[in-house]
Amino acid sequence: MDTQTKLGKTQLNINRIGFGGIPIQRLSYEESDRVVQKAVDAGINFFDTSRIYSDSEEKLGRILAGHRKKVVIASKTFSRDGDAVKKDLETSLKQLGTECIELMQCHNIGSPNELDQIMAPGGALEALEQALQEGKIQHIGITGHKPPLLLEALKKYPFSTVQVPLNIIETGALQELIPYARSQNIGTIAMKPVAGGALQNVKLNLRFILANGIDVAIPGMDKEEQINENLSILENLSPLTKKELEILENEKKALDENFCRRCEYCMPCPEGLPISFLHTLSAYYFRYNLKDWAWNRIQSLPKSYQDCTGCNECIGKCPYDLDNPSIFQDTWKRVQEDRGV
Ligand code: SF4
Ligand code: SF4
Repeated sequence: MDTQTKLGKTQLNINRIGFGGIPIQRLSYEESDRVVQKAVDAGINFFDTSRIYSDSEEKLGRILAGHRKKVVIASKTFSRDGDAVKKDLETSLKQLGTECIELMQCHNIGSPNELDQIMAPGGALEALEQALQEGKIQHIGITGHKPPLLLEALKKYPFSTVQVPLNIIETGALQELIPYARSQNIGTIAMKPVAGGALQNVKLNLRFILANGIDVAIPGMDKEEQINENLSILENLSPLTKKELEILENEKKALDENFCRRCEYCMPCPEGLPISFLHTLSAYYFRYNLKDWAWNRIQSLPKSYQDCTGCNECIGKCPYDLDNPSIFQDTWKRVQEDRGV
């Protein structure tokens, strides 16, 4: 299997191990410079970031601005409205130190309503199409955590790429979304290849993803040694043996049972808690160690862990039987202890 690929219809030639730009947020500029430079030197040429990853774009831009001919930058806008997207894009271009971003993605489309918003006149897609005309971006992609919704999006609009979580725990995308994307020559990008740090066997998990035909996996990297380790899997991209799959299945079983797959079957919560997002934030807080980032978001939510009334409505609807009231109570206690509040 090739270690390089064309990213679907974008025809961008990229290494199948890309660079996930979330974890560098917790590094100093000097540390981040070293990691990003090492990634470029080692041959990584696909760098994924987002307008909402605090200083990630800026940190990538400090190094990538000097290598524009050999790297592909993928960023994202969380805005749904066209005017806000235009502002985001100008900021992204400035932070990344570039005149053109190869791939701009609509970030985390989470509901049919959000999909309608970006597709409406004056919405995000109209602004991104204008940016295409102006040469500020080259391609438009979409990201999200719900494979069926992303599939609907791909059928409604000719996105060039789709980015979705994929790992041994979150395999929903393999059912219909990825086969459909491949049939339409839409580039496929796997985020969260080790489930936000929950999975320990990085190499086998990355191989599992790439052996399933995904164009590029983007593990987050914040240490120089992770770069060669992640790239080393490209030496052997054969499908996992039965024994190797068993290792991953055992890892999956051994994982904390409180692992939320973000399927959202539990929604809506009568109290208005964004249940799966709260699980995501606790993963960012405790697994990714992005404490300040997660804390700011927890504080900005209208309803959070402490507002769970324990009505238990979500438990019956969760296919994984997650005891959200207890989990949220425990999470809130741990966060409070950690913040000293
Ligand atoms: S138990 Fe808490 S999170 Fe679950 S539905 Fe009730 S209020 Fe919402
Ligand atoms: S709590 Fe359960 S039902 Fe709700 S999103 Fe997570 S895994 Fe899905």
